[in-house]
Amino acid sequence: MKHIAYGVILIVFATILLPTVIVIGLAPARSVVSHGSTVRLINSGGLKDIKTNVEEAPADYNTINVFVVDEDKNVKMNLEDYLVGVVAAEMPADFELEALKAQAVAARTYALSKELSLGGKGCNLHPGSDICTDSKHCQAWISDDVMKSRWGDKYNLYHDKIVKAVNDTKGLVIVYNDALIDPVYHAISGGETEDAINVWKENFPYLKSVPSPGEEVAQKFKTTVTVSSEEFVNRIKSKTPKANISTKNVLGYIKNVKRTEAGHVLSLNIGGVDFTGTDIQDLFQLNSTNFSFSMKGSNVVINVIGYGHGVGMSQYGANAMAEDGKNFEDILKHYYTGVEIMKIDNLLKLKNGKA
Ligand SMILES: [Zn+2]
Repeated sequence: MKHIAYGVILIVFATILLPTVIVIGLAPARSVVSHGSTVRLINSGGLKDIKTNVEEAPADYNTINVFVVDEDKNVKMNLEDYLVGVVAAEMPADFELEALKAQAVAARTYALSKELSLGGKGCNLHPGSDICTDSKHCQAWISDDVMKSRWGDKYNLYHDKIVKAVNDTKGLVIVYNDALIDPVYHAISGGETEDAINVWKENFPYLKSVPSPGEEVAQKFKTTVTVSSEEFVNRIKSKTPKANISTKNVLGYIKNVKRTEAGHVLSLNIGGVDFTGTDIQDLFQLNSTNFSFSMKGSNVVINVIGYGHGVGMSQYGANAMAEDGKNFEDILKHYYTGVEIMKIDNLLKLKNGKA
């Protein structure tokens, strides 16, 4: 879920290909982890295969072709109706309304970027579909039936709330430099969001590190993973047998831990072998790369802060801002540096030189 726009290219093409909209480079893979029963978030997707696409906007972009994985077929949906299913899948419905609105605008921005940039081929796993419901690939979505079974007697309350979040932000998208942004988000940053360059080695001017207070209330703000010293050594050696490490004083083999300013581990050396923070996250199934080690008896305890890659909007941080009286625009402008919130129609008019 990556796309980024370059203003210069935009200006050039905006004058040549009309009507056009540019959204750039949709990374194909969003690694997604589940958080609790409802939160889905982007974990550590890459920025491979970034493409620049300039194509005409479809005549009716309010209808989106969604490949529904559970039904194994493409379903035409009204864009705003589709977004209700996305917000329901991507954020806990008991979150504040303004946080849900921020999520709705992020989801709309992502959906339209897929729809407008690739002319009906937005989902490269499912040709002919703009987007799919595979949370590991495009964007999570749940049907009304799933909402009913998930929410039980709270269905009406939650459904109405999410419909309101979508309706109240109808047509609004997040724009940087006159192009749709890649609105990445995660559950819990750990107190400070991460600069995209530290995670994906690509610079996104709107994905910079910002403070994210108020997340501590999240149940998974801090988590631990405990393994025996033997298991720790085995897993490290399963990644690279060259690691010179033994169960005796196992933490003594860990050296040179390098962290980002936000606290995520960039790299570390274990038994003479360099690992990335992501290597260790994958090896021990950690919720984030913000981790440290301690011993409890002969067990290794890995203490983890946050949940997800930490880039872009923090969902729990968004909820904390909403509880603090901030609205969805405040939230989006806080987490996405230098962006504007505008109607998609106005963005298209801008591209068409009519604004
Ligand atoms: Zn897809």
